[in-house]
Amino acid sequence: MTQRNFLDPSDRFVHRHLGPREDDIQEMLAVLGLPSLDALADATVPADIRFRRPLDLSLNRGEKEVLDELKRLASANRVYRSLIGMGYYDCVTPPVIQRNILENPGWYTQYTPYQAEIAQGRLEALVNFQTMVADLTGLPLANASLLDEATAAAEAMAMCHTIVRAAGQERKEFFVSQDCHPQTIAVMQTRAEPLGLTIRVGMTRTLDVRDGRLCGLLLQYPATDGYVGDYSALVEQAHHAGVLVVVATDLLALTLLRSPGESGADIAVGSSQRFGVPVGFGGPHAAFLATKEEYKRQMPGRIVGVSRDVTGKPACRLALQTREQHIRREKATSNICTAQVLLAIMAGMYAVYHGPNGLRRIAERVRGLTLVLAEGLRRLGFDVAPKLFFDTIRVPVPRAQAEQILARADEQRMNLRRHEDGSIGLSLDETSSPDEVRRLWEIFVGHDRISFTVQDLTAAVALDYPPSLARTSAYLTHDVFNRYHSEHEMLRYLHRLQAKDLSLVHSMIPLGSCTMKLNATSEMLPVTWPEFASLHPFAPAEQTRGYQELFRQLEAWLAEITGFAAISLQPNAGSQGEYAGLMVIRAYHRAQGEGHRDVCLIPVSAHGTNPASAAMAGMTVVPVACDRHGNVDLADLEAKAAEHRDRLSTLMLTYPSTHGVFEPGVRRMCQIVHTHGGQIYMDGANMNAQVGLCRPGDIGADVCHLNLHKTFCIPHGGGGPGMGPIGVARHLTPFLPGHPVTQLGGPEAIGPVSAAPYGSPSILPISWVYIALMGRDGLTKATQVAILNANYMAKRLEKHYPILYTGTSGLVAHEFILDLRPFKESAGVEAMDVAKRLMDYGFHAPTVSFPVAGTLMIEPTESEAKGELDRLCEALISIRAEIQDIAEGRQPRTNNLLKNAPHTASAVTANEWERPYSREQAAFPAPWVRQNKFWPSVGRIDEAYGDRHLVCSCPPMESYQS
Ligand SMILES: *Cc1c(COP(=O)(O)O)cnc(C)c1O
Repeated sequence: MTQRNFLDPSDRFVHRHLGPREDDIQEMLAVLGLPSLDALADATVPADIRFRRPLDLSLNRGEKEVLDELKRLASANRVYRSLIGMGYYDCVTPPVIQRNILENPGWYTQYTPYQAEIAQGRLEALVNFQTMVADLTGLPLANASLLDEATAAAEAMAMCHTIVRAAGQERKEFFVSQDCHPQTIAVMQTRAEPLGLTIRVGMTRTLDVRDGRLCGLLLQYPATDGYVGDYSALVEQAHHAGVLVVVATDLLALTLLRSPGESGADIAVGSSQRFGVPVGFGGPHAAFLATKEEYKRQMPGRIVGVSRDVTGKPACRLALQTREQHIRREKATSNICTAQVLLAIMAGMYAVYHGPNGLRRIAERVRGLTLVLAEGLRRLGFDVAPKLFFDTIRVPVPRAQAEQILARADEQRMNLRRHEDGSIGLSLDETSSPDEVRRLWEIFVGHDRISFTVQDLTAAVALDYPPSLARTSAYLTHDVFNRYHSEHEMLRYLHRLQAKDLSLVHSMIPLGSCTMKLNATSEMLPVTWPEFASLHPFAPAEQTRGYQELFRQLEAWLAEITGFAAISLQPNAGSQGEYAGLMVIRAYHRAQGEGHRDVCLIPVSAHGTNPASAAMAGMTVVPVACDRHGNVDLADLEAKAAEHRDRLSTLMLTYPSTHGVFEPGVRRMCQIVHTHGGQIYMDGANMNAQVGLCRPGDIGADVCHLNLHKTFCIPHGGGGPGMGPIGVARHLTPFLPGHPVTQLGGPEAIGPVSAAPYGSPSILPISWVYIALMGRDGLTKATQVAILNANYMAKRLEKHYPILYTGTSGLVAHEFILDLRPFKESAGVEAMDVAKRLMDYGFHAPTVSFPVAGTLMIEPTESEAKGELDRLCEALISIRAEIQDIAEGRQPRTNNLLKNAPHTASAVTANEWERPYSREQAAFPAPWVRQNKFWPSVGRIDEAYGDRHLVCSCPPMESYQS
């Protein structure tokens, strides 16, 4: 008799994360002719890089136990009320938005809206965001979010440089007002230096813009200490001297203050965090960038535009898509890929819910309370600077008194800002109250005997700004911002949009390179716990011990998984990890006296962010060829490395390759580059094929970024948030990014690459929970099943479509490429047609035309069950037969199921139907679609029309809302 173990927790997670059941796994292995998952790993992963011991992580655990442990960790964070400001403010997330967007997998598991016909909901929501930003900043064109305010300011700086250069002037200096937030200044300094730009920090009062060296300047409005001033004269002078003006600003303040656009600014940047997004110890939140029409081609990030579908109906899609900056590779001026879509949607919906009048009321309350706070402090004998402000004041006090005030604030569980000169900063926000103002007075004077009340002083203050500063122009006049102000209407609006979007709640999203795996509910729950959501990034360290311990553990786990000595959790997207990693390599070379090393070798198959990041890090990109098997051409690598050996800095390598293959020559590649004095940067987007089976650090990489929003379960959020931490070998650890505000990093650290010291920390618990739940064996098994799922699908499909590349054993890694190029000639069918036709079957397309044009790249992930894999295979096989009908003349080449896809409900229910196929074939091509039909809300979208008539904000009337 075997003793049955009834003591194990019954809520173990590994089999919840994995799609296939144990007998499915056996059946799928049999299809591949392999006896076990280990045999599959042996057959796919080259023996010379195989990791031969179990990961040093704890065993898998139950969901309740892990969440209980995380709760204990979280409770080591102390939630104080923070009035520190500096771009981060408490706010109220409207519960209808919290529950129905932030906590709703129908929204957060969406993919980036490349397949626009099944993404109209989030695209419309992003148009709302862009409209809100454009209106409030007074500039006509806004993008659909950037990563944070500081990097947005750096992007604007790069834009200024490019625009001025395009106008025929090479100008290498950029002025930054010392009134900007310190983290913004620091990130700009990091980003300027490798571009050969010099940042001049100073006072605008003494600035002479006419010296012919400046390409642009950055002002903060309101300034970091709260000051609000009229800078329109400076803008005029600047323009006169050919200098562009960037204004970092605050959307809430702009409901009352004259907009940057009206003051002549060329670009406005900022954070939309206080529009209903929790502070979360620094992120994620959506930054914005708005500019003039004439600079649209230089705009970084994604822009949503309104176009029309085949029937002429308005429809949104990513505009100027082919010009998304990183697609320009080394000519790109920005590497932004993943941005902050979910948070931009929340901020836009906050504006929809409150409307222009609601926002103005919130702003007036904040302003009024700040005026009363300042007036009271004056009556209590304090000086208050500045004279004109919105929500922030600075109170100069002698240092000794400041210490007492800060100590009393601490007793009241309040954080105030300590300015460098010893004065105290206070920023009020949406959550402030008359009671809070009274408590602040008491904190300043040290007793509660104050002879006036908040009510007394309200009559003594004037809300209105002087005419030169007051906002007079209207904003948010569009229908959408004036319609959904009751909760019922709002709830239904959110669900109406959600219903237009295909997400992981409907079916698999087999996106090669993007790893759309399960985002488990247990992983998501902690994101909104107040202990994680309510901390200010610059709160004193003794209040953030829970976070620090979580970082320490997560860093240790990721170091073990990658084989590196240290991890930096600062970069807040994969692209930012690439940039940080290359900057670390650059700093290392300099420290070795090898600062001239600036050549970055990049295989032609690399993702566009690789060359874009290299260019931003001041490197010269040299492409390396691939051979006909899709592998890096070793001879070409050898030749290029030797040719550039004196200047060789780095090889950027994706592993397994972007072609979905474990290249056997990877050790050799690392060797070649090391021999010539270069470092290896590994793009870790494909880490889902490595965890537990091999490790970048062991293979020979010196740096690697991880996309936590791919491999480690942070959801894609429709195109963000993400996290892109980097791991480094020991010799690079001194150079990991620092941060000036929290004194992170040692003397050799590179400057910050993100506004907040730990990027977007409030989503790190997601990856922590995933690793804790899966444990040592679960993580390895996940990788094996990911490889199994991919190989099983490839095996089923290989009889119907050419599989472009496989490894030496005939197996693929965790993803594979279907070659559709032959059908162009035989049937006039392109990859995009197959992508659109898949929508009729209820599926999201795989990755289209990356890394090879005319192909589809499928990555099923370990989380998809065998039944789901089979359904996708059957859909693709059925589409293959439809292609054959065209090739053999049974269907016409232009008017057919593929060219007309996707088929909308209104098309198939129209009275007229004059197509050479039936309505049933159009909309119900497989049995499962009868049970569960997802209707694309618009027909095929006309891309070119939208780019010719670029419209990026809401129509003024109700033309496409319903
Ligand atoms: C996703 C991806 C990136 C970029 O990561 P982001 O987080 O989107 O910035 C880089 N390289 C590869 C291969 C990728 O798949």
